[in-house]
Amino acid sequence: HRKAVRKSSRGQPAVAATGQTGPSTPIVRRFTIDDFEIGRPLGKGKFGNVYLARLKKSHFIVALKVLFKSQIEKEGLEHQLRREIEIQAHLQHHNILRLYNYFHDARRVYLILEYAPRGELYKELQKSHTFDEQHTATVMEELADALTYCHEKVIRRDVKPENLLLGLMGEVKMADFGWSVHTPSLRRKTMCGTLDYLPPEMIEGRTYNEKIDLCCLGVLCYELLAGNPPFESASHSETSRKLTILLFLLWPHQVDVRFPASIPLGAWDLISRLLRYQPSKQLPLAQVLKHPWVQAHSRR
Ligand code: AMP
Repeated sequence: HRKAVRKSSRGQPAVAATGQTGPSTPIVRRFTIDDFEIGRPLGKGKFGNVYLARLKKSHFIVALKVLFKSQIEKEGLEHQLRREIEIQAHLQHHNILRLYNYFHDARRVYLILEYAPRGELYKELQKSHTFDEQHTATVMEELADALTYCHEKVIRRDVKPENLLLGLMGEVKMADFGWSVHTPSLRRKTMCGTLDYLPPEMIEGRTYNEKIDLCCLGVLCYELLAGNPPFESASHSETSRKLTILLFLLWPHQVDVRFPASIPLGAWDLISRLLRYQPSKQLPLAQVLKHPWVQAHSRR
């Protein structure tokens, strides 16, 4: 396994997607389920399950995501899935979960994913309730760097704790698939209603652009330090209503967010710059990396 990982870190994963000549070229089918030893289930998604698995030949460890074709077809998501696989397979960044390859049989589609040994960030947050400054600033730097990479490729990834997995050293791995419609789970209800992550542009129907990620980054930073998101409320519609009222009342300066004592001043400065109502007044992504509070506390 070590050998395979070393090889992988040089950019040639043991389960490399082969036969690609360009972004629109489909990945050549290479694997079958018989190439893998299947281990314990890692989690459940709406369209299937994720298992720990290893390649029989190289012992390379992966997470194998099994999706049922019937369910994907039922939701009319075949096209979207293909597109997402293609995009995901071309993303190579330390803080973005790798999709090494995929294959399928009569009933299932299998995604060969990088295994994130330390699981979900949200679980870690639930356990510790809040993250300290070092931990939060490190996550901010990792995500700002990953988002810069995505923006260069004109790709959107959602910044939510439930989309964030953790690597061996606790490094963040963004693991979002746009098509993957998650079943509403307890964590969504208790931790972050969808609307907690909806930035002003979307609530008001303005252009949905990359600045949204900045707003989400600000919400996440708040949530990691305070233990709850800034716009949390009992129901989504209530959140939406409250947020919209706030926006209208306070336009054009910034979204009104009350800062609890648990948020240190430096982080407060960063969050307030990310939660600007007007996208043109928001801190650019590059400035997140250079922000004095991030620089002072990140251990990346
Ligand atoms: P998903 O269908 O992507 O929501 O995955 C369901 C659950 O499986 C997630 O919430 C994670 O707990 C777990 N999981 C998914 N992918 C991985 C991975 N690559 N490594 C470790 N755990 C994962």
